[in-house]
Amino acid sequence: MLLNLVKQKHTVVIFFRSIVISVFLCLSQVSSNAKTHIIAKGETIGIIAKKYKLTISELAGYNGIRNPNRVKVGQRINIPENSISINYTVKLGDTLSSIAKKHQTTPDNIAKTNKISNPRKLKPGQKLKIIKGSSPKSTKPKVSNISEDSLSKINRPRVRRGRWKHIVVHHSGDNTNSLQGMEHYHRRVRRMENGLAYHFVIGNGVNTVDGKIYTGSRWSRQIRGGHVASTALNDIAIGICLVGNFDKRTPTAKQRSSLKALVYRLRQRTGIPLREVRTHRNINPKPTACPGRLLNLKGILN
Ligand SMILES: [Zn+2]
Repeated sequence: MLLNLVKQKHTVVIFFRSIVISVFLCLSQVSSNAKTHIIAKGETIGIIAKKYKLTISELAGYNGIRNPNRVKVGQRINIPENSISINYTVKLGDTLSSIAKKHQTTPDNIAKTNKISNPRKLKPGQKLKIIKGSSPKSTKPKVSNISEDSLSKINRPRVRRGRWKHIVVHHSGDNTNSLQGMEHYHRRVRRMENGLAYHFVIGNGVNTVDGKIYTGSRWSRQIRGGHVASTALNDIAIGICLVGNFDKRTPTAKQRSSLKALVYRLRQRTGIPLREVRTHRNINPKPTACPGRLLNLKGILN
């Protein structure tokens, strides 16, 4: 959302700051629910695992955390609702990948949980512990999540390595926003000569196609965005806007999977590290609630 680009009086800034603080408070309340947990100061994966009656490897595996010693304060941890760990006896013909497929996990995760160094030495009768439904970071989204047409537009421009340093995720602020409406607002009302301030827009099914990735001319032309309150940042930050207001509702399933696939493809094209995929709120020099407290970026990208 671009509201914060407008020069604000001090009082307005304070008002926005209070929104940010309340958003933050909301998040910490959400974290005490069973589904997610935000790592507090002094907490380790071990402490959290114990709290939820899980083992470290179960919790780390479920969250795709490679090194349980390297987690950060504020990091969001998903807590499985039911028991997710089962014992499995290897049958003749099983491979780590066939077992992994049956249990919605990865061969890599099973190997790590069971300290298997050579996956080829699997023997019938061997007992394995399997953490079901883990979604490790190494799971690559299929680029085929993106339509041929969108993909060719994403791939078309030549991208200079080092040209882009960040990917910034926004919401449009209104469920009914259309591409034409946003283009008009940025070009005519906000008087941006390059029109639509974002490089990409992901539709929500109201006045845009659900999950469709629209490529803006700023991406085709490889020019700066107009989506954050800093010229220096706009020069080096790719802007992705999901249509909707994520203080009121969550992004649609298709929006989430398109965002994940788009970020993955853009990171391949630009070399931007995962840590530089940020929310507007997280990167903006001025306080903003964008993209709303119900968009869980880490959860989507994991
Ligand atoms: Zn924004």
